[in-house]
Amino acid sequence: MSLKTLVQNSLKSLSVTSNGSVAFSPTQFDADVMTTYGRFPIALTKGRGCFVWDNEGRRYLDFVAGIATCTLGHAHPAMVEAVTRQIQTLHHVSNLYYVPEQGALAHWLVEHSCADKVFFCNSGAEANEGAIKLARKYAHTQRGIANPLIITAQASFHGRTLATVTATGQPKYQKNFDPLMPGFAYVPYNDIAALEALVDELDAETPQVAAIMLEALQGEGGVCPGDVAYFQRLRQLCDQKGILLILDEVQVGMGRTGTLWGFENLGIEPDIFTSAKGLGGGIPIGALLCKAACAVFEPGDHASTFGGNPFACRVGLTVCETLEAENLLSNVKQRGEQLRVGLQRLVQQYPTLLAQVRGWGLINGLVLQPETAIKSVDIVKAAMGEGLLLVPAGPQVVRFVPPLNVSADEVQQALNGVEKALAVVSQA
Ligand SMILES: *Cc1c(COP(=O)(O)O)cnc(C)c1O
Repeated sequence: MSLKTLVQNSLKSLSVTSNGSVAFSPTQFDADVMTTYGRFPIALTKGRGCFVWDNEGRRYLDFVAGIATCTLGHAHPAMVEAVTRQIQTLHHVSNLYYVPEQGALAHWLVEHSCADKVFFCNSGAEANEGAIKLARKYAHTQRGIANPLIITAQASFHGRTLATVTATGQPKYQKNFDPLMPGFAYVPYNDIAALEALVDELDAETPQVAAIMLEALQGEGGVCPGDVAYFQRLRQLCDQKGILLILDEVQVGMGRTGTLWGFENLGIEPDIFTSAKGLGGGIPIGALLCKAACAVFEPGDHASTFGGNPFACRVGLTVCETLEAENLLSNVKQRGEQLRVGLQRLVQQYPTLLAQVRGWGLINGLVLQPETAIKSVDIVKAAMGEGLLLVPAGPQVVRFVPPLNVSADEVQQALNGVEKALAVVSQA
């Protein structure tokens, strides 16, 4: 048997078809894969730019982008080049050694943010875990707090690990996973009086509040932008009391809002922030960033086997450099404005169904009227039928998070798709 035949036979036994794609049966998939997701009944097998194709050859305009992750769309030449070159050179060595690509990405992030130090990991939840550990160590060692508390917001989302699901202020994600992690307290978002009252109450006898952890714009919680006056007052409160401000930039960072970081929209700087989703353009990577004053981790305190490997960091650096080279922040602002104006017109056209449009840059939510029986997922399904991918952010909000290099023509195609989807759901 020739080597070629051997390889072909072994590929067949791995269920790989001759054109390189993997054989697929939804029934087999559901039998083998844990049922943690309610999946839409399509299987995506190819992507180019802002479009993806399913296994039956149908094309979709992708306004989900892997949930605000594929910053440069699909198969961007710079991504293809970086991935190919790095896998051929060196992809993983561990943090026992210096990793030049990790240093280069850390340097880019430090040069382009208020942070002085970076730690790399593999996901948003893992970055937030790191932020929680860092804030707790800071409280113990710098402020002598024995039982540090972290305040987070209702309707927030910080991840699915035990600490981050505890930080997530949404009971639906916590149900049946108790006992939750101690050391968290919750406030309504954008409500300064409630926050001041809780801090006063918790710190009444001895200081206990180590950190306040928030999103600059709540993504999963329904695309709710932070209020500028709220965040500015909150920053003052943190400064007065020595409380650390942690911002979860996992969804809104890396240019998504039209500025590199979501908090730039609020005119404040955090002490600690986290990044993930858009940072790797769809390749898994997470980052924990902080100012020098709170960089209290020492060797042995925190680690990640995969974190900061040459492969993920090379790709992250490529995403960062391409954001700059293609002037994508300005595209995000213009396309975001175009999208909101178009959606606003649809709100006027369907006043009993749609309430408002809200968002920054290319993270936008089309908010349904509270009285309507139609749910966001109904509109998402109808849009899929029109060849447009969208994602709910809760039952009342349809979220639009396309690649940051989406064109004016593609935004117009998406608006046409939404208009058709609205016609379908309102006739049903
Ligand atoms: C998606 C998300 C996370 C969790 O990220 P994972 O990579 O899924 O762990 C955390 N925070 C925010 C704001 C997110 O949007």
